[in-house]
Amino acid sequence: MDILCGIEWDLLSEGTPKGFDYWIGSAHHLYGKNTGKYYEINFRPEDLQDCINNDFDGDPLAAVEAYFAEVEKIAAKKPDILGHIDLVKKLNADGSFFDEESPRYKAAALRALQAARENDCILEVNTGGIYRGYRKDFYPGAWLLGEWNKLGGRVIITADAHDTAALTFGFDEAAAAIKAASFTALTVLTVNGFEEQEL
Ligand SMILES: [Zn+2]
Repeated sequence: MDILCGIEWDLLSEGTPKGFDYWIGSAHHLYGKNTGKYYEINFRPEDLQDCINNDFDGDPLAAVEAYFAEVEKIAAKKPDILGHIDLVKKLNADGSFFDEESPRYKAAALRALQAARENDCILEVNTGGIYRGYRKDFYPGAWLLGEWNKLGGRVIITADAHDTAALTFGFDEAAAAIKAASFTALTVLTVNGFEEQEL
């Protein structure tokens, strides 16, 4: 068995992601310009609601746009893998915060996708949101994955596992979703680095 050491490095993480076999770059927070608070957008629904109300003038899509702008910033740091690009939808499975089909949502997501492409990031198809019961779709969802295919980007399947039972959770379904988005190859991490494998 080959054991590699990687890190998920948040835009607000301390230190640098150097010296690892690979690193995943991701965003989990929004800065509130009115209150000066940093909100974790993927934790408590009440925090997300406070963030929208107190720092985005009650406009949930403004918070969405700010989140995807954070993703653009982490993509610009050229991580090997861009983590859970649309994590902002985690607490929105019932659509109660915002409409994921709205033009503003899609435009912001596409800008983040474009940044990932320009910086040659591999996009992860992350099964963690389903494993932990928050979502029925992956990060990214089917539409965004299809757009990534049109941009010619590379994809890798990840579990974002927080426990051993999650290590390969949903990988067959993720591969099926990737195929359904018209990809013919998948990136895998080996002891020799990232390699392309036919699907
Ligand atoms: Zn994360």
